[in-house]
Amino acid sequence: MTITLDLSRATPAASAPAPLNLAGLTRAEIAAALVESRVCSSNQAKMRANQIWGWTQHHGLTDFAGMSNIAKETRAALSDTFTLARPQIAERQESVDGTVKWLIRFAPGIEAETVFIPDVGGGSGALCVSSQVGCTLNCTFCHTGTQALVRNLTAAEIVAQVQVARDDLGEWRVGPGERRLTNIVFMGMGEPLYNLDNVAKTLDIVSDDQGIAISRRRVTVSTSGVVPKLTELGERTGAMLAISLHAVTDELRDVLVPINKAYPIAELLDAIRAYPGLSNAKRVTFEYVMLKGVNDSPAEARALVKLLAGIPAKINLIPFNPWPGSPYECSSGNRIHAFADIVNAAGFASPIRTPRGRDILAACGQLKSESEKQRASARRRLDASGEPQAI
Ligand code: SF4
Repeated sequence: MTITLDLSRATPAASAPAPLNLAGLTRAEIAAALVESRVCSSNQAKMRANQIWGWTQHHGLTDFAGMSNIAKETRAALSDTFTLARPQIAERQESVDGTVKWLIRFAPGIEAETVFIPDVGGGSGALCVSSQVGCTLNCTFCHTGTQALVRNLTAAEIVAQVQVARDDLGEWRVGPGERRLTNIVFMGMGEPLYNLDNVAKTLDIVSDDQGIAISRRRVTVSTSGVVPKLTELGERTGAMLAISLHAVTDELRDVLVPINKAYPIAELLDAIRAYPGLSNAKRVTFEYVMLKGVNDSPAEARALVKLLAGIPAKINLIPFNPWPGSPYECSSGNRIHAFADIVNAAGFASPIRTPRGRDILAACGQLKSESEKQRASARRRLDASGEPQAI
């Protein structure tokens, strides 16, 4: 495979090009960059790339100076040519329950949210990553759905979310048994199957056992139901599958998850039944957000059970987390438990997700909206002062 990297950054002629960041690249991409920049010969590139990979992906280094098995002059040449810098943390919030949320700024106006949720499923913790900035879909219960798509995140930017979280949690130096961040879920901003190449590349990087080493079986990709991409997702990534279902009739799902108009429920379920590796050991998770008076009746619980009959599945019942201006309310506890009892009695595991981080801006996309509002008001203040704008 030939890998070429465009090292000529699109910058004004007068300013120096931004150095290429190696921290989230594949080994092959690092080797190609080393050769292209003439930091080392093509004979040496593979070995050097492996060394850099180990220091960045296994030890979490953000500086070439600490790479003790690389000669000093080469480290200096690497520092002159490349960077390993993390993206900027625009905002960090920590809930009393240990949930941590970061708004990560990759470039001006390119911000995405990442959330660490501790103690999910018996002592481990999950990192919820974003795959896009904004979203093209308009699921009506989702705050990110109110934000226009800015662009897909690159694999390096998705990997950087994991690296930022591991820095913050102090995870680079702990043994595998002491890790808190053990699982990754693509349930942040964006539709991962509209950015499948970068999602697949991210899985290759984070699951590498010489690096961050999070097994593919501990990575879940959640989709609104992009039917034509489901098989490809399974074949390319081996990831666990989660589906944003939320309704049992096309009439209601057309409203809650409008992509349903293109890929209705029956078509979606056929594609799920064909998902590579689907079995009792590798069940699909159906997410079902509990919306008061909308989708939470006992009749809907019974219809759900009927719909999913024969599919190795788990059903996550999610109490709705309202956001300012959201058109829905959360179902009552009694209603959610009654729904869960029906689904459970039919043999499906149906855990009720414990609301997390309710004391912070926990609804996906809220932190980004807040940051944009603050930037806009800072801009207005600058406009009013008549001073040149720096934002
Ligand atoms: S639920 Fe997912 S796919 Fe739907 S609008 Fe929100 S981010 Fe996009």
